[in-house]
Amino acid sequence: MMKKPVYLDYAATTPVDPAVAEEMMNYLTPDGVFGNPASRTHSYGWQAEASVESARRQVADLIHADPREIVWTSGATESDNLAIKGVAALHESPHIVTSTIEHKAVVDTCAWLETRGVQVAWLRPDADGRVSPQQVVDALQENTVLVSLMLANNELGCVTDIATIGRHLRERGVLLHVDAAQAAGKMPVDVHALNVDLLSLSAHKVYGPKGVGALYVRRAPEVRIEAQMHGGGHERGMRSGTLPTHQIVGMGKAFELAGHHLEEESRRLENLRERFLAGLSHLDGVHFNGSREHRVPGIVNLSFEGVEAESMMLGLRHLAVSSGSACASASMEASYVLRGIGVSNELAHRALRFSLGRFTTEADVDFACQQIIEVVGRLRSLR
Ligand SMILES: *Cc1c(COP(=O)(O)O)cnc(C)c1O
Repeated sequence: MMKKPVYLDYAATTPVDPAVAEEMMNYLTPDGVFGNPASRTHSYGWQAEASVESARRQVADLIHADPREIVWTSGATESDNLAIKGVAALHESPHIVTSTIEHKAVVDTCAWLETRGVQVAWLRPDADGRVSPQQVVDALQENTVLVSLMLANNELGCVTDIATIGRHLRERGVLLHVDAAQAAGKMPVDVHALNVDLLSLSAHKVYGPKGVGALYVRRAPEVRIEAQMHGGGHERGMRSGTLPTHQIVGMGKAFELAGHHLEEESRRLENLRERFLAGLSHLDGVHFNGSREHRVPGIVNLSFEGVEAESMMLGLRHLAVSSGSACASASMEASYVLRGIGVSNELAHRALRFSLGRFTTEADVDFACQQIIEVVGRLRSLR
């Protein structure tokens, strides 16, 4: 049997932590808590509701929110859509500020709104991948209703100064939405310290199951959004649909674990990242993409002079890594994120993202370095 490749694509998704999977099993079968959390007439429903509410607190705790500020969704894509369309829908000819290197869930939502007459300002980040507070302030107009920027970038791992941006926006009464799918569980996230109004979360980037996420919606002063999914009026009218108890319980457990392990796990991943970079330090013509200083520990984006990412990936068949974003690699276009921070077209085509996580070992990192050095050497010698 062929050995499985070493998984270095934690930014794409994480495996479910075994403790999370074990917990989820108790919410499916006849002997488990399978009831509809919205059933008010019997104990099956009450138990399910209690489990959902306990998970709501676990998720809220990680970001220092009130449980009543958590709206369950199917993932960060839906949370981004709900936040942005939900605010835009409440205004006539609104103006939204975002950046060119947001996740597609934000970029495509804003681009779609543009076709519907919404004005969008597309900010260009600096070479580190960060948008500055001044840029945001300068982009504001009379009719600006929302700014949407991510906390940690999924391709680069760089972290934007959301707290300062949030402070300026709070003073001016403009709402701030933040996609924190890559930040939650990887760095401290405090909705008050960040001055955010809306914040998107996903379970499967934090060792929880795929297909569940949440949107933080600030209560005081109250942030209003228009529902995008209509039905039974669940989630205080903001998102209808029967709650998937097992998924939600899984997300709750995953976020609780993330909170417990945050410091120790960050330190461990930082050490692994430094070991990885040190292991590659003898290789020349390697460019580090994105801020070295402001970043989450697990993501490393590197361009290798003289070798196409596609050839690299063929050569690195014992490693599971990604080139550009998932969507960009399918269309063979250079990553819009790398192009967006001013990386040349050539180096953008030579970039790979390595992302480390909870189950990555020193041996994995050493193996990866050895494979990369070998493959880069071989491909360069063919030129
Ligand atoms: C993964 C990711 C998303 C999408 O989340 P899903 O839960 O898969 O819909 C959105 N934003 C960022 C930054 C991500 O990394």
